[in-house]
Amino acid sequence: MAIVICVTNQKGGVGKTTTAVNLGYYLAKDRRRTLIVDFDPQGNASSGLGVDKSEIEAGMVEVMTGKVGMEGAIVATRTKNLDIVPTTPELANAEVELVNARGKFMILKHALATIAPDYDYIIIDSPPSLSLLTVNGMIAADYLLLPVQTEFYALEGVAQLLESMKLVRKAMNPNLQLLGVLATMYDKRTSLSAQVLAEIKKYFKDKTFTTTIPRNVRIAEAPSHGAAVGEYDKFSKGAKAYKELAREVVKRTSK
Ligand code: ATP
Ligand code: MG
Repeated sequence: MAIVICVTNQKGGVGKTTTAVNLGYYLAKDRRRTLIVDFDPQGNASSGLGVDKSEIEAGMVEVMTGKVGMEGAIVATRTKNLDIVPTTPELANAEVELVNARGKFMILKHALATIAPDYDYIIIDSPPSLSLLTVNGMIAADYLLLPVQTEFYALEGVAQLLESMKLVRKAMNPNLQLLGVLATMYDKRTSLSAQVLAEIKKYFKDKTFTTTIPRNVRIAEAPSHGAAVGEYDKFSKGAKAYKELAREVVKRTSK
């Protein structure tokens, strides 16, 4: 049965999609059957893995509106063991329409149940908001993975996110756990990065991943080639860091 990890932070541009895609890639390389769920209307995970959005016949829009089951929306990637359910911008409209639907918070959870036996890991890439989609992600997940950019204001909003996690746990998903907090875009030349990392560690203690993701131009370039950084330049520092993260995630989830 798949372990479901929701990559989330309502703050924009902190490395959620980059983490979902590259963690997924290295889990798959480690022979774990992995599915990435692109749950952000921006569809960055889809394009980042080379899915042509004009050719998407069914994706998260159709799943959320009940037109197809999850199995009808899965697309294989070039990488063995790595699949994705893509999305298109219409997911934003679907979200608005779902506001009055019954069981609106449980749609993703139910959708995943049918395909969970086929995977070892399911990774959900969330939008930068604490919206209906994000709550669906949290309810469907076993774990939250929280990427935090090592910049000023990094921890802003984190308290609110943890509060939402608590609420979800209390009301609908008592098993939800924080898998870890990942420092992203770490720049070892700046003292600010080190300061923010120290602050993260002080706050989250051993929930902070030992792996940090460096600021690395190869990571930023890879999506424009529709590839994970490990495919684009597997010897880059960024690729190595995500490989290490995958190892740490496997370790933390096999306890
Ligand atoms: P959004 O909130 O809009 O969904 P996000 O949290 O998913 O954003 P990403 O899209 O993963 O964030 O990253 C934001 C930008 O920073 C992207 O252009 C990405 O390529 C770049 N980026 C992410 N991680 C790194 C890194 N470690 N080094 C350099 N650039 C990075
Ligand atoms: Mg994103």
